[in-house]
Amino acid sequence: MRAVPPVRGDEVSRSSRIIVVGAGIAGLSCGIALHRLGFEVLVLDKVRELRDAGSGMSVIGHSLVLLEALGVNIEELGLRQVNVSLRSFDDRCLFQVPLDADPALVRRYGSVQYNVHRGELQQALLRAALATGVQVLTGSRVVGFREGPTDVEVLLESGATYHGALLVGADGTNSVVRRTLLPQHQARYSGFSCWRGITETPPASATRHGDRMLKTIVHRPGDDVSFTAGFAPRNRCFWVLDVRYPANTLMPGRDGKRYVLERMTNLSSEFKDIVQATPDENVLQTDIYDSDPFDWHRGGRVVLIGDAAHPVVHHFGQGACLAVEDAVRLARSLHEAHPDVAMSGERRPVLSLATVRQALGSYASLGARARAWSLVYISRWCGDAYMHNMPWLNWGLQLCLVFPFNLVFIVVMKVLLFWAQRDLRTFAEAHLTAKRT
Ligand SMILES: Cc1cc2nc3c(=O)[nH]c(=O)nc-3n(C[C@H](O)[C@H](O)[C@H](O)COP(=O)(O)OP(=O)(O)OC[C@H]3O[C@@H](n4cnc5c(N)ncnc54)[C@H](O)[C@@H]3O)c2cc1C
Repeated sequence: MRAVPPVRGDEVSRSSRIIVVGAGIAGLSCGIALHRLGFEVLVLDKVRELRDAGSGMSVIGHSLVLLEALGVNIEELGLRQVNVSLRSFDDRCLFQVPLDADPALVRRYGSVQYNVHRGELQQALLRAALATGVQVLTGSRVVGFREGPTDVEVLLESGATYHGALLVGADGTNSVVRRTLLPQHQARYSGFSCWRGITETPPASATRHGDRMLKTIVHRPGDDVSFTAGFAPRNRCFWVLDVRYPANTLMPGRDGKRYVLERMTNLSSEFKDIVQATPDENVLQTDIYDSDPFDWHRGGRVVLIGDAAHPVVHHFGQGACLAVEDAVRLARSLHEAHPDVAMSGERRPVLSLATVRQALGSYASLGARARAWSLVYISRWCGDAYMHNMPWLNWGLQLCLVFPFNLVFIVVMKVLLFWAQRDLRTFAEAHLTAKRT
């Protein structure tokens, strides 16, 4: 789907408008939430067309509730994941957890986890954003911003500028907004690159372990690859191969698939069949970064959300979930800092610096940052364990063979879900819910 075409120049200077850079999961969620609360929102993205590119991923309980409130029909879009399993390099099942085993979690969230296609989730959010009235401009690469006392000026590569009362950097791991706000900050290369893909139809061998299963390989000690595969909606299979690899050495799709198959020589043929069945053009390579803690705002009119605020490795599957949470939390903070405006379709007035500061201070509270950074570190440690960067963690995973890991997994999921700021769910259901698109 193509959003509104780019326009050049902008004469508005004292705007009440909020500018969001990035129409990914964070940016679109933020655009929808803010617009529904009465703010005028402009979302800018550098790509000319937001296509449903990407592969499969999992979204867990609390973010499903938030996505539903934002207008995403998750039952229609996703595949309910009924179990998760960890498998050894030689295809032994180390443990398998029935995800719906905990009645409290099922009661609360319907299902603990859904598999979705990342691009399809982005398209669903784009549809909801456009239907809500959010202005989305593609082909608008942001190269920097200038902050003044009354507004912030966003600079585009084309030479166009936009003025807003607040700038939200939702432009992902390599965020330009973050680089401009915090020039000294560097994201940390994880040491591995990942190749991922999605099949149109799964090979027969992939269904051997039953459908809707997420499988993770713990690679052999001393080896430096890990492989994950799962089922995506409409009978597709997605996979991710992580390889310890130098940064910035990206390969074209066709070579990437050949390389993946070479690196999988020791894996069971079931997994190789999934990669073989993937069209070359569906194979993507991404270098994986995360970051140590840094500020999400510096007291002014600029703030970061999603991967721009806390790049995270994917082994714990939390990046997109955190992105949606950030969007709703930011919207709630602005709403609470500005509670006097009626919700009867009236647009909100210009945001004073004091209001912006109060809202952003509450958005980036210690609790919110602690939650995000603990997930960043848990994800890093999971990645290190899978990739054998930290042998003791990998051996910890091998202990799954003798330990009741199901129990540990359910406890971890519970902590994760119940620590997910339950009040966000209440807020989203009360203030953001609109008709499904
Ligand atoms: C292999 C893999 C598996 C994953 N699995 C999971 C999972 O199972 N569960 C989960 O929750 N998360 C998962 N994630 C993480 C998740 O995909 C990300 O955390 C999430 O997509 C972040 O969303 P975002 O909107 O912050 O950033 P992005 O999705 O990166 O979006 C940023 C947007 O900003 C735009 N942009 C960038 N620069 C500019 C600019 N200068 N000007 C204008 N626009 C710009 C981009 O075009 C893009 O549209 C996974 C990630 C990977 C790599």
